[in-house]
Amino acid sequence: MHISRWPKPANDLQYLGVRCRKCRKPILFAIDRNGGEASPTMPRKLVLTCFQAECGHQADYTDAKLSRFRKNHNASQETK
Ligand SMILES: [Zn+2]
Repeated sequence: MHISRWPKPANDLQYLGVRCRKCRKPILFAIDRNGGEASPTMPRKLVLTCFQAECGHQADYTDAKLSRFRKNHNASQETK
């Protein structure tokens, strides 16, 4: 049985994310499939929980500014 896998290695993909309001670490929540050319379709309400085990802060990021990150490098490195 063939299971289709993730289309490509995530090397060159950009991820959309926000900065945690508490620890300022990036919280990645979506792959930017448009390569930054078009605005992503945002959910009406965006509540995210910080991935950092020691933080775990949950907040509403609906109005937060989105940043783009590349996951394979330093995740804190933003690409504009
Ligand atoms: Zn955090």
